[in-house]
This record gives sequence, C-alpha cells and structure tokens, in this order.
Amino acid sequence: MREASERAFQAAQQVMPGGVNSPVRAFRAVGGTPFFADKGEGPFLYDIDGNRYIDYLLSWGPLIWGHAHPEIVRAVQEAAAKGTSFGVPTTLETEMAEAVIALVPSVEMVRMVNSGTEATMSALRLARAYTGRRYIVKFEGCYHGHADSLLVKAGSGVATLGLPDSPGVPSATAESTLTIPYNDVDAAKALFAEKGDEIAAVIVEPVAGNMGCVLPVPGFLQALREVTAEHQALLICDEVMTGFRVGLSGAQGRFGITPDITTFGKVIGGGLPVGAYGGRRDIMALVAPQGPMYQAGTLSGNPLAMAAGLTALRMLKEAAKEGLYERLEAHGQAIVDAFVRAGTSRGIAVSGHAIGGMFGLFFHGGKVTNYRESSESDKARYAAFFHGMLDSGVSLAPSQQEAGFLSAVHSEAEIEETTQAIEKVFSRL
Ligand code: PMP
Repeated sequence: MREASERAFQAAQQVMPGGVNSPVRAFRAVGGTPFFADKGEGPFLYDIDGNRYIDYLLSWGPLIWGHAHPEIVRAVQEAAAKGTSFGVPTTLETEMAEAVIALVPSVEMVRMVNSGTEATMSALRLARAYTGRRYIVKFEGCYHGHADSLLVKAGSGVATLGLPDSPGVPSATAESTLTIPYNDVDAAKALFAEKGDEIAAVIVEPVAGNMGCVLPVPGFLQALREVTAEHQALLICDEVMTGFRVGLSGAQGRFGITPDITTFGKVIGGGLPVGAYGGRRDIMALVAPQGPMYQAGTLSGNPLAMAAGLTALRMLKEAAKEGLYERLEAHGQAIVDAFVRAGTSRGIAVSGHAIGGMFGLFFHGGKVTNYRESSESDKARYAAFFHGMLDSGVSLAPSQQEAGFLSAVHSEAEIEETTQAIEKVFSRL
C-alpha cells in the first residue's frame, strides 16, 4: 500500500515539473507512482506509508555508508552547530583536498564545487583553456551531468526518457561535442586521426554507470590514455559515480590509468551536495585566482559537506584495509548471480555486471558493452521485475539503464533477502 505516496505525488505534480526535482525520480521508465521517502536507516529506506525497502539506489550512489550513519550525522551536527556557511576559507577544505590527493595519485590539486554537473562543466572549461582547442569527445550513453555541451547522446534520465539531445542546447555548443560508442577503440583512433589537433579532451566514465553498469573492455581506457597523449589532448576521467566506490582510488586505480583531470561527486560529499575536480598541478594552476580560467561558488567547500565527506573518506580508508571493496563486489556479484540464475533457468535473456560497490542487471542475453546493446534490453520485463522487487521490499534503480549501488552497511542478511526476492519475483514474471 502506497496511498500516502499516491497523494503526495498528486500534490507534487501540481507544483513541480513531473512532480520531482530530478527526472529519473518520476519512475517514467517503469511506470507507476514513485514512493516518497520518510527516513533512512542503514541499508533501509522507509516511505511515508511506513513500507521498508532494502535500498540499492542509495541516493544514486553517494551513500556508501548507508542512510544516517551515526558518525556522518555527528560530523554534520557538530559542523552545523558552528555555522552552516562562511564564505571565507576553512581548514576543512584543505583537509578535504589533502584527503583526495592522498587517495587518488593522479590528482595534485583540487577545487571543490557543489555537484557533479559543476565538476564536469568546469573540467571541460579547464581542458579547453589548457589546450586552446574546441572539441570535446564523449561516449554515447555516458552521462556527465546536465551542462549544455554534455547533453549530447547522454545516458541516465536523458536515455530513459528517450531524449538523446535536449532542446535549449545551442547547436553551436552541441556541435563542439563529438560522440563515439563506448568501448570502441577503433572509433576513438579514427576520430583522432581526423580531428586530433582540434580535440581538447576526451571525457569518459571509466566504468559506465548511466546506461546500466557497463565495464570498460580490456585495453579501452589504456587506448584512450595513449591516443589523447599522442595528440596532446587531455583525458578526463569522470569519477563522479565510480570515485571511492569501485575502489579507494576509484576506477583509475583499479584499471591502472592516469588521467589528466578527474571529476568527483556523490561519495565525496558523504550524502551532502558536493562535487570536485582535480588533476595535474600545471593544469589546475590555470584555475582562478591562480590562473585565468574562471570558476567560483558561493557555497563551494561548504563546511557541512566537507565534514560529511571527510568522515566518509576517513572511514573508507580504514574499511578498505579490512577488504570493504572486495566485500561490496562479492555482494554485487551475489545479486547478479541470483538474477542470471533466475532468468537463465526460465529461458529469459539476462546478464549483469558487478564491480566494487556498483552493479547492473540487464534483460539482455549478451554481454552489454555499449549504449546500443544496453538499449536493446527488454524494458517491459525490467519494469515488471522492478515493481515485483519493490513490492517485495527491495528498491532498485527505476530503469535498467542505471546502476545499482551497495553500501558498507548492507549485511549478508539483506543480500540473502534480496536474492530470495529475485527468485520469487522471477517465478511470477
Ligand atoms: N557524472 C556522472 C558519471 C554521473 O553519474 C553524474 C550523476 N549521476 C554526474 C556526472 C552529474 O552529477 P550531479 O547529478 O551531482 O550533477
């Protein structure tokens, strides 16, 4: 029963476009009414009708410590009691920059912003300022936030709603963004052969999480590193989703690549609104006021967000020594295995991936490696599966073209309950 959510959604739709403040929350891909959150507790989310869900959405990735982790809550409360924003520097900001630099070797200087969108938008401006070049290369189905130049063949809600390009983006801006298929090394090389000396940067999700969870094929990221270096273009790893989630040093640590610029968001804010970009010192030196590339923010480096993020990172550093990322991946793999087993035994085409604290489930028989394949997945079946899981008390992403997320506080018991729910839901699909 979700009567209170039904009423809340009716009211919300009168005053907010689609009833939401971010499109994917409206359940357009799976139909039905979104549930409205009341509170979160560890791995669980409770709606305003009192239903409990094991949460694999986790606010779309930030909550690697689950909901309302006592240490994060305490850090935020203590920070708030001292003032919520100052507009002058705090030592917390330096601590945050030092923490990021210590964990991610390619990053030598950092600028904090307020969202992943701001981080990627600023990273593009920086790459263009550094190279003096015009073009940005992105991959079909990758989502890097909603800045004009990145809303071209984007993933996430743009893909879910079938809006490959958005009205309102000037064509001159869209034309400066070149797109090629994910995992296609030949396409990248061909594009560089043609336009290499006009390309400022390649921006890539080193594990794609906005067309479902799609892994880089062996050699893909290395090839991007090589071809960009060869043409003096920059490589931007968008680790807004993967940063501190697929491993302590992000996907770049896991796959052994060294980008020039990295963008962060989600986990780095510990559940508060934060983003960051950082990279090589000579590149970051262009950012104002050290250099001429302008970028600013009234609330950037906000003390509540820094306190939450620093606490999350500090706890991750400790937990990583105890095998946290391996445990997250084992949990993700258990969910993928249960999904694949349940589908295959019934002759339903299914596949999936798990890496660190991310996983993806596809109603698609083959290995999904790019946006075209991800889009071939059976959407009606996913919608039925999604609602079956929700009714069984498990909250997954409301589109199979989104990733699933795990937290450090999901225990074996929740994973077991989830795999049992998968089997039960398939028996009725
Ligand atoms: N980059 C990636 C890889 C993302 O997944 C997202 C958001 N899902 C963004 C950028 C944009 O971040 P935000 O929603 O915080 O603006």
